[in-house]
Amino acid sequence: MDRYPNRVEIDCSALRHNLMQIRSLIPAETAVTAVVKADAYGHGMIDAARTLEAAGAERLAVAHLAEALRLRKAGLRCPVVVLCGILTRAEAGAVVENDLIPVLPGPETAGILSDESRRRGKRTRVQLKIDTGMGRLGVPATRAGAFVDEVLKRDGLEPEGLMSHLSSADEADRGFTESQIRAFGIALETARSRGMDTRASSLANSAGTLGYPESHLGMIRPGILLYGGSPSPDLFLPVQLEPAMTLKATVLQLRDFPEGTPISYGRTYTTGGPERIAVISAGYSDGLPRSLSNRGRVLIGGVRAPIRGRICMNLTMADVSDRPEVRPGDEAVFLGRQGDAVLTGDELAGACDTISYEIYCAVGRCGEKTTIP
Ligand SMILES: *Cc1c(COP(=O)(O)O)cnc(C)c1O
Repeated sequence: MDRYPNRVEIDCSALRHNLMQIRSLIPAETAVTAVVKADAYGHGMIDAARTLEAAGAERLAVAHLAEALRLRKAGLRCPVVVLCGILTRAEAGAVVENDLIPVLPGPETAGILSDESRRRGKRTRVQLKIDTGMGRLGVPATRAGAFVDEVLKRDGLEPEGLMSHLSSADEADRGFTESQIRAFGIALETARSRGMDTRASSLANSAGTLGYPESHLGMIRPGILLYGGSPSPDLFLPVQLEPAMTLKATVLQLRDFPEGTPISYGRTYTTGGPERIAVISAGYSDGLPRSLSNRGRVLIGGVRAPIRGRICMNLTMADVSDRPEVRPGDEAVFLGRQGDAVLTGDELAGACDTISYEIYCAVGRCGEKTTIP
């Protein structure tokens, strides 16, 4: 009998497939900034970035400088956007040295970026962050003009675009997103009227890419779609995406319990009749949300088996009654594909009131990863 350790497999062909599906939604001349922050949503940043760059993504985006530096160390040469910007002079120096593109959440760091650029005789591309309703980083759209002036007057900086983020493009009600798109359009006009080049501007995340063609502009910034997830479990996907992440574990034991047997911590499940229960080798330490207890499913032999009782740290129980073929040593898949069956991040997320993003990040952080090129 084989006994494999739990593991997370990343299928790079799924990333390539998903990038192509995203391309089918946008005009040929629209550029793609592939968002690989948070270790590529748990998929492993370096391998994901190499795959996406080779598959034609024009740019990569990360949250923090340290991630961008890791990309450069690994030899990635394409433009890299640092979404959360920088704060200190040392960080400004690293941005300039490594030809990174920081997002400025305001004019405050323009001075040090300008100094560090001039000191090295370089020009640094920057993105200006405009808040059109996200309520997070940025300068209010109504003050875009002053922000643009403030950055344009700095030598050594090359403002190349405005950036804003959609807060609600996955919702059925379109009104708020439409108001964000309008506000961004006005900010863009203002920036152009001050003489700024805005060709590298962007607004659309995955949800905007799917539902709002007027948000695509010349560049989109998809994240979750690349990894085969939907921005929201209830959003219709007009494209066929492939899950890139699979969490595999092993059936350790099969138990035949009589009716009335409590299963796992807290006795939250009691067998309703004679039940065959598979005890599986993964739990919340492998990134499974404990809130999937009594709600989630796990694939065994390509069939969904309902999770019974609380998910433990390293073990989970599932109902395999009337499945005499299931044996100790069988593979159990909590996320991803097994044969023809798929448990998507969205299905898991829907079962426990979260979003697939959180599932991928948690599983990716916990698991021993194997990347399939
Ligand atoms: C994370 C992020 C994205 C990607 O969002 P998805 O919903 O995964 O497509 C795009 N832009 C910014 C600024 C982000 O922080």
